[in-house]
Amino acid sequence: MDRHTAHPDTIAAQALGWTDERTRAVIPPIHVSTTYLRDEDNQYRSGRVYARADNPAFDQAEAVVNALEGGGQALLFASGMAAATAVFQALAPGDHVLAPKVMYWSLRNWLVTFATGWGLDVELIDMTSPEAVRAALQPGRTKLVWIETPANPLWTVTDIEATAQLAHAAGALLAVDSTVATPLLTQPLQLGADIVMHAATKYLNGHSDLVAGVLVVREGAVESDAWQRVRKVRAQVGGTLGSFEAWLLLRGLRTLHLRVRAACASAMQIAAHFAQDADVAEVLYPGLPQCHGHAVAARQMHGGFGGMLSIRVRGGEAAAIAVAARTQLWKRATSLGGTESLIEHRASVEGPGTPAPPDLLRLSVGIEDAGDLIADLTQALRATHDQSDAEKTRSAGPAPR
Ligand SMILES: *Cc1c(COP(=O)(O)O)cnc(C)c1O
Repeated sequence: MDRHTAHPDTIAAQALGWTDERTRAVIPPIHVSTTYLRDEDNQYRSGRVYARADNPAFDQAEAVVNALEGGGQALLFASGMAAATAVFQALAPGDHVLAPKVMYWSLRNWLVTFATGWGLDVELIDMTSPEAVRAALQPGRTKLVWIETPANPLWTVTDIEATAQLAHAAGALLAVDSTVATPLLTQPLQLGADIVMHAATKYLNGHSDLVAGVLVVREGAVESDAWQRVRKVRAQVGGTLGSFEAWLLLRGLRTLHLRVRAACASAMQIAAHFAQDADVAEVLYPGLPQCHGHAVAARQMHGGFGGMLSIRVRGGEAAAIAVAARTQLWKRATSLGGTESLIEHRASVEGPGTPAPPDLLRLSVGIEDAGDLIADLTQALRATHDQSDAEKTRSAGPAPR
């Protein structure tokens, strides 16, 4: 299958059409060997030596993600965090990096503690503003600009093309956490980014049953120093994915297009519905015209605005937590991108310093019936609202006998 001409749906469904020549199997075997034979003349012509660095179990999943992103090379990692941190670990002490104030919480936490401790000069800025990016870039010192779009948990949008131009003009690379957009909705490398990162734990696998990460580098930059250092980080630090997990990821990837399309359509319907609900103060979703970043999202996202949104519940933190407690279909759990819909009070997870308002519930829309999801959230909102009305009446004085 030609990865340059095949439709992404075809690439995903057939996992690039690879079959196993030796056995004629349509579905690949799982390779578990930790070590590889050396040739008689002491060479390693297979290119594989030891499984911390080389594993044929990765080849097909890496090729599929690389094809979907239109990249030069992809690398699987043991988690999204292992993938993301490899990009930063490939930098040198003293390097200046820009990252967003609003971003995936664990990575932000790592950046302001470990990365800073290693001597990286990490500056968190408002990535929705090209002016702020321009002002923060230090030509020659800034080595990396890290963005996430749409970004957890407010779903703010960063203009990838504009940010790539600014970063490159200052001599910095642009890396994009595109976990929420998936390669189907946005292809950051085609908009000028140098590296794309996915928590494959989320949509790429899509079944909430494995932890994995992936990086893809743009075509033409495979031999760059920066990417070769990233490769070394994986091989030497050892954030290596297991063979079974790589196989499961490949299985998940085959339905990526169906799952993402369904989640996007339902998320749009749910966002539009609750934007009109009296118990909801605000819906944050880049697909809504009134939301910040909609114009940029409409330009750089194709086929949908993603399956993630947040709602701000009238009545504040207590009401938001009560609503999450009352949903039946929406599961109260962290993470995103699975077939089942999840609801989470984000401020409770992130703690002090979070940009998440206390009344915010993050919703990961799965592939259930959208009407069922709307009905379940509606009953939770109404029950919470009715109870708080009843409490107000009680506290206003003794009930008449
Ligand atoms: C989950 C997630 C990560 C981290 O991935 P893990 O596989 O959990 O390590 C990074 N970025 C985003 C946007 C995520 O949702």
